[in-house]
Amino acid sequence: MDLQEILNQLKNKNEKDIALITRAYNFSQNAHKGQERFSGEPYFTHAFEVGKNIAEMNLDASTIAAGLLHDVCEDGHATEKEIEKEFGADIAFLVRGVTKLGKLKYRGEERYRENLRKMVLAMAEDIRVVLIKLADRLHNMQTLAYVSAHKRKRIADETLEIYAPLADRLGMGKLKSRLENLAFPFSFPKEYEELEQKVAQKTANKETYLAKVKYKLAEELKKESVAVKAMDSRVKNMYSLHRKLQKHNNNLDEIHDLVALRIIVENVSDCYTTLGIIHQLWKPLPGKIKDYIALPKPNGYQSIHTTVFCIDGEITEFQIRTRAMHEESENGIAAHWAYENAGKPTEGARVDKKIAWIAQIRDWQKEIGETKEFVDSLKIDIFKNRIFVFTPKGDVIDLPDGATPVDFAYHVHSEIGNHTNGAKVNGKMVPLDYHLKNGDLCEVITQKNKKPTLAWLDFVKTNYAKSKIRGYLKK
Ligand code: MN
Repeated sequence: MDLQEILNQLKNKNEKDIALITRAYNFSQNAHKGQERFSGEPYFTHAFEVGKNIAEMNLDASTIAAGLLHDVCEDGHATEKEIEKEFGADIAFLVRGVTKLGKLKYRGEERYRENLRKMVLAMAEDIRVVLIKLADRLHNMQTLAYVSAHKRKRIADETLEIYAPLADRLGMGKLKSRLENLAFPFSFPKEYEELEQKVAQKTANKETYLAKVKYKLAEELKKESVAVKAMDSRVKNMYSLHRKLQKHNNNLDEIHDLVALRIIVENVSDCYTTLGIIHQLWKPLPGKIKDYIALPKPNGYQSIHTTVFCIDGEITEFQIRTRAMHEESENGIAAHWAYENAGKPTEGARVDKKIAWIAQIRDWQKEIGETKEFVDSLKIDIFKNRIFVFTPKGDVIDLPDGATPVDFAYHVHSEIGNHTNGAKVNGKMVPLDYHLKNGDLCEVITQKNKKPTLAWLDFVKTNYAKSKIRGYLKK
């Protein structure tokens, strides 16, 4: 838990950033004093690793600090007020955002999808909240073995169904693979074991073969003066393989990219030259040439893929890309974010990213199913005037701007609305005409004898609540 490990990751080190991260490190260590993880390690190891994960994504000092502090209110001895006083509104906002997301729980397909949709929209307010959450999940997955068995499976499933696709959507290929590889053995233990054995047999003698291919190709590229930055083989991640096998009758012989050779070159024109050289050496399989440079994937992925009959007729996949494309395929939106915002104030970053992020959600939505309501809600004007308020159980209720705890209560259930006696927002009592804000956590206090009054009609915002109150008053 050496602070230096985090500071070493900073690209443009300056006094201010170092001081901020150091303060967050010390504050978090104090706030988690005496607490332990399931593993028996000090709780602070978790906060530290999350901060380090964020630093490795090349994110800025505020996000790293927020990562170090992400659990100090929820699990540690600190309060939101203290965070705000010590670290300012921006970092307090991030910590609060992550704490709230922690309250979302996966139960059943429909509820899951609806929650996910709303969660994502609520998060659209600031992409950094999502990135901290992903870094948090990564470390929780790394220590999953210490969690009780029945919880393990649920957390692993949730990782495969929500967090890995989210990382993928954001173009964070490395993180997506790490999450999947950590979750797969817990979610599908039997399938994992079988597949691991099969893959081990298949790849046993690959190394020597690939060395031959690399040597031959490097020689030809040199003749054509293509500067190769790196040439590595990568074994397909096990969970992707598992998914792909399900589409191919579980026949491993049909999978041609089990091992692929990745070639990183200087610029785009060298990518195409390299493709030409490979095709002159070995015949390509028809229909297997994919130019994601000219036509990037929806998440921004760029690369050229081709599969050829290689040395000894062995079918082999090649992936060709530039250093920048590689960096982006590994770190996606985080790479962008760090790059675009180098030296810029954080506030501006939030606004910029919001727009790109909404485009991302739209693409993502295509994969998890289209509903008219979803598309409608994405229209900017509606999006702007909606707020997302969390129940204590983690459900998200979406309401128009200006909605009150009474509106919230009726949207949870009309019986709750009818018996509303008070409300707590983010743990504090508020008046019934309080204006809820995006991301608030609202808890309605009911009392059996309590009834709606005429006065409620003056402040409730939604027509639904109004009609329910009128209906009750008529009786
Ligand atoms: Mn955490």
